[in-house]
Amino acid sequence: MAGEPQADCLFCKIVAGEVPATVVRESETTVAFRDINPQAPTHVLVIPKVHYPDAGTLAAAEPGIAADILREAAEVAAGDKVDESGFRIVFNTGTGAGQTVFHAHAHVLGGRGFNWPPG
Ligand code: 5GP
Repeated sequence: MAGEPQADCLFCKIVAGEVPATVVRESETTVAFRDINPQAPTHVLVIPKVHYPDAGTLAAAEPGIAADILREAAEVAAGDKVDESGFRIVFNTGTGAGQTVFHAHAHVLGGRGFNWPPG
């Protein structure tokens, strides 16, 4: 059923506590934890507790939870004090864009400068 945990999903296992993660925030609908391979001084992933393969399918099915992810991402940036210098919220969607884990997630990146356009 849509949104149900998937046995082969790494991020569902993090939600369930079966795979350890450095959790920085948790809400009723989301978990935020530090990326295992950080690309910036702040690199936190904000994920929904429900399973959808990417941000678009999550937003279509559960728009309130998609909004929760944005709110939590901003709270992560404020918590790491990167909100004033600026931060990025990135949703890689599809392999061509670099998505490797097919459970919706926002990357929250901050604490260094960023180029535009992104690489
Ligand atoms: P994507 O490439 O799908 O946009 O992002 C997936 C992210 O998950 C990558 O930045 C990767 O470093 C991170 N990641 C992969 N495996 C783990 C893990 O076991 N723990 C944590 N905390 N992050 C992970």
